[in-house]
Amino acid sequence: MILKLPENVKKIIHMLQDAGFEAYAVGGCVRDALLGREPDDWDITTSALPEQVKKLFARTIDTGLQHGTVTVLFRAGNDGWDTYEVTTFRIDGVYEDARHPKDVTFTPSLEEDLKRRDFTINAMAYNETAGLIDCFDGLSDLKDKQIRCVGDPKERFTEDALRMMRAVRFAAQLGFTVVPETLKQIRELAPRLAMISAERIQTELVKLLVSDHPDKFEMLYQGGLTDVFLPEFSALMKTAQHSKHHGETAGEHTLISLKKVRADKVLRLAMLFHDIAKPVCRTTDESGEDHFHRHPQIGAEMTKKILRRLKFDNETTRCVVNLVRLHDERIFRLEEAGSGAKQLRAVRRAVSRNGEDVYPNLFAVMRADILAQSEWMRTQKLALVDRYEKCWREICQKNQCLSIKDLAIDGSDLIAQGIPSGPEIGTILHEMLEDVLDEPENNNKEYLLEHLEIYQKREGK
Ligand code: ATP
Ligand code: MG
Repeated sequence: MILKLPENVKKIIHMLQDAGFEAYAVGGCVRDALLGREPDDWDITTSALPEQVKKLFARTIDTGLQHGTVTVLFRAGNDGWDTYEVTTFRIDGVYEDARHPKDVTFTPSLEEDLKRRDFTINAMAYNETAGLIDCFDGLSDLKDKQIRCVGDPKERFTEDALRMMRAVRFAAQLGFTVVPETLKQIRELAPRLAMISAERIQTELVKLLVSDHPDKFEMLYQGGLTDVFLPEFSALMKTAQHSKHHGETAGEHTLISLKKVRADKVLRLAMLFHDIAKPVCRTTDESGEDHFHRHPQIGAEMTKKILRRLKFDNETTRCVVNLVRLHDERIFRLEEAGSGAKQLRAVRRAVSRNGEDVYPNLFAVMRADILAQSEWMRTQKLALVDRYEKCWREICQKNQCLSIKDLAIDGSDLIAQGIPSGPEIGTILHEMLEDVLDEPENNNKEYLLEHLEIYQKREGK
């Protein structure tokens, strides 16, 4: 078995070996190299202690000395550095809240180090002298496309409950299954996930969502994990939809929709949450048809709470919440669309009201939602989104005014006309924007100033 190691990785391994230590590429990078995937980063495991590693290399950072990790840096081109984490062989103590176990013990044994790792496919090491070191049959699990714990899954999930989410995350990234015994223990031990910090859960959740198989999210539900960190989703899986738009539960529809947008964090989160309020908004009419009035608005509020709870940053939260709130917005209806000018006007008003930065993501969300619904009226629904997008493109291309800051005049122009500075200025600019959204050609200084009196009169009405 020969794997191609990057030059810098070879250099680190050789330098450690020349100094009398053992050193190997280990974990995710070996797994990815075996699969023919480009590893995100190359980690090295060594018998050298952190202080010994630091002495050997010109540039290092003390990343986590108490956990045995030193980052080695090499110049990459003109600016920037390539970084490699070099970690001493170790045995982990109890995992607490944080990313690392509470205490670790260094060991001279590579096998002991591999034993502490989560899954067999993540517990292989490699260097050019020894070849592949695979104490737990990781290679055969890789061939069989399955995730299996190193050792007893019950013990391993009890030590660190996050591993249950990691099992599903790797299944989603690699398109693998989880072996029955490991899955069974996830079901038993799922409640222990409650002990894990929101930050660690968020990291795994995002990696799962932006993977090639985001619909494997379903395993989090099947394993009982969403009951712990996202009970709102468990409710969605239990919400039937008697409607011509849908043939499955709101949860199944959501899972399908994840696959219909590109692998982007905000888009995938928006799909995960777009119908999150359906369980609480559901009403059934006399004919047995279900309705979900106001589910986008209520869903946006729920999404905000959930993303806060999972400690997402403000910007991600804002973008996702907006997409959820607007995912069902009918800017105009195809049958009552009227002339092109009327449609453009409606889209300008929508973009001005909703903020320019939700587009074009919103169109991607709308399309994914439609593609995950029943085929009833699908062509017409998609044609409507195409129409919105066409209008939006034309508006962008013509650089039309969509907000007060795009107006051909500003507050100082009004002051120069003798209008006292104060709230009146804002109201007049707002009236001008209203006019310009209807008639973009009116956005020029002469026209706006000529009609100043009319805008002033309209003010407050
Ligand atoms: P990726 O970098 O693509 O997310 P990875 O396999 O490199 O995948 P990391 O989280 O970077 O995953 O961890 C690196 C290695 O450390 C893993 O391959 C695994 O061997 C080990 N590891 C990481 N987290 C844990 C954990 N919670 N329990 C046991 N071993 C772990
Ligand atoms: Mg990694």
